[in-house]
Amino acid sequence: MALLSEVKKDYGKLQNFVNGEWIDSTSSKVLDIENPSTGGIIGKVPMSTADETKAAIEAAHEAWWAWRETPPITRARVMFKLKELMEQNFENVARIMVQEQGKTIDEARGETRRTIENVEVAAGIPSLMMGYNLEDGAAEGIDEDAVISPLGVFGAICPFNFPAMIPFWFWPYAVATGNCYIVKPSSQVPLTMNYLTKLIEQAGFPPGVLNVVNGSHEVSDTMMEHPKVKGISFVGSSPVAKYIYKHSAENGKRVQAQGGAKNSLVVMPDANLDRTVSNMLASYYGCAGQRCLAGSNLIAVGNIADTLLKKWIEGTKKIKMGYGLDESVNMGPVISAKAKKKALDYIDGAEKQGAKVIVDGRKAVVPGYEKGHFIGPTVLDQVTPDMTIAKEEVFAPVVSYIRMESMDEAIEFIHKSPFGNAASVYTQSGKTARDFRYRCQCGNIGINVGIVAAMAYFPFAGYKDSFFGDLHGQGQDAIKFFTDRKVVITRWF
Ligand code: NAD
Repeated sequence: MALLSEVKKDYGKLQNFVNGEWIDSTSSKVLDIENPSTGGIIGKVPMSTADETKAAIEAAHEAWWAWRETPPITRARVMFKLKELMEQNFENVARIMVQEQGKTIDEARGETRRTIENVEVAAGIPSLMMGYNLEDGAAEGIDEDAVISPLGVFGAICPFNFPAMIPFWFWPYAVATGNCYIVKPSSQVPLTMNYLTKLIEQAGFPPGVLNVVNGSHEVSDTMMEHPKVKGISFVGSSPVAKYIYKHSAENGKRVQAQGGAKNSLVVMPDANLDRTVSNMLASYYGCAGQRCLAGSNLIAVGNIADTLLKKWIEGTKKIKMGYGLDESVNMGPVISAKAKKKALDYIDGAEKQGAKVIVDGRKAVVPGYEKGHFIGPTVLDQVTPDMTIAKEEVFAPVVSYIRMESMDEAIEFIHKSPFGNAASVYTQSGKTARDFRYRCQCGNIGINVGIVAAMAYFPFAGYKDSFFGDLHGQGQDAIKFFTDRKVVITRWF
C-alpha cells in the first residue's frame, strides 16, 4: 500500500494567533491531538483561558475601525492573495486534514476546494455589500438610503467534521464586510485551521483582524458573554446548538447555530436503481458517515425493496476502508474511540430492538491500523420508524434500511423527526420530485442527489433542531448576518 506523505509527523503544541502574533497559552490544560486512523498522537492543543480569549476580543476590537475604513476593494485584494496562497498549499491543507480528521484524501481535497470557494465568493465584496437607495423616498426632495455597514467583532465555534470549510462559512464574509473575527476550532481537529492561519497571516490581513483561540467551553462562553462581541456563529450537535443560541441571545448577540441531523433518503419504485445506489454510497459512507448531510435512514418505497437492498449490499461490500492517505481507500475511521463506542452501542441497541445486522462492520479491522477507530460499513435491515436507530443521530457509516408503502408515509416519518437538515428522493418522475421538494420540511432537499451541499454562494442551514437562528451561513445570508442596514434620510436645503 503506497501512502502519500504526511506533512509532519508531530505538530507540537499549538499556539494561539492573536493580534498578528503567535502566542503560547498559559493554560495548564492541554489535550492530545490524535490521528484517528493510526491512534498516534500528532500534536497538543491548549484549552485557552477566559483572559486569553478576552485579550483576543480586545485586539479584534482595537483593529476594527481601521479595517472598517479600509476600502472594500482593498479588503477584497487580501482575499485574492489568500486564495492564491491556498491554491499553492492546497495539497498540504488536504493532507493535514486527513491526518487529524481521518477522511480520505479525495474527501479532504473536496473540502479544501469548498473552503477556497468561500474565499472566492467573499472576494466579490465590493459588489455584494452595496446598499440601496430611493430618491424622494421619504418625501419630495428627501432621499432615503440603506447603507450596509459592518458591526465590529464576531466569533465562530466549530465542530470536528469539517476542520477547514466550516470556519470558512463565516469568517471570510465577516472580514470582507469589514468586521474582525475570532475562530475557535474544534479541539479535536485544530491543525488544519492552524496551518490555514499561517496562510492568512502571509496574505497580509492587518494584526487583530483574524484571531484564532484554541480551547473549549471557556473560550466559547467568554465569546458569548463579552460585550464587545456582536454575534456568534456555531456549528455542532443540537443540544450544544440550542445552548449556544439561548446563551448568546440572552447576552444580546446575533446568533446562527447549526445543529445535528438525521437524514432520510427515499427511493421510489420508478428510480434508476443502479445510478441511485452508486450516488447514495458516498452519502452514507463518505466521511465515514460524519457529515451533517450524510444519509442515515434509507427508505425503500414499494416493491423495489428487496432488489434495492441486494444492490445496496453489493455496493457496500466494495467500500475499501483504511488510512485516507492511501489514494485507493474510500472510507476512513470515525473521529475517536468515544465516537466509535457510541455508534457500536446504537447498532447493538437496534439489534436488541429487532433490527437485522446484514452487513456488520462492528469488528472490522484494518491491518496495520489496529489502533485506528474504524467501523466497517454497516447495514441494518428490518428497521422500523419507532426504533431508536431510526430517530437519533449516529454519525457513523451505519445504514438503517426501512421499508414503506408510499412517499406520503416517508414524508410523514421525516416530519416526525426533531431534525430537519436534509432529505432526498430518487425518482424519474418530475411530479414526484416536485411534490417531495414542495412538501418536505427540511432545509436542504436532494432530487437524485444524496449529499445536498450548497455551494458557497448559496445559503446553508437546516430546519427545526438542525438550526437555531434566522440568517444562514455562506454567501448573501452571511453578509447580512455580519452587517447592518443603516438607514440615512437626507434633505437637501
Ligand atoms: P459538538 O457540539 O460536540 O462541538 C462543537 C463545538 O462546540 C466544539 O468547538 C466544542 O468545543 C464546542 N462545545 C461543545 N460543548 C460546548 C458547551 N457546552 N459550551 C460551549 N462550547 C461547547 O459537535 P462535534 O461533535 O464537534 O460535531 C459534530 C456535530 O456537528 C454533529 O451533530 C453534526 O451533525 C453537527 N454538524 C452540523 C452541521 C450543520 O451544518 N448543521 C455541519 C457540521 C456538523
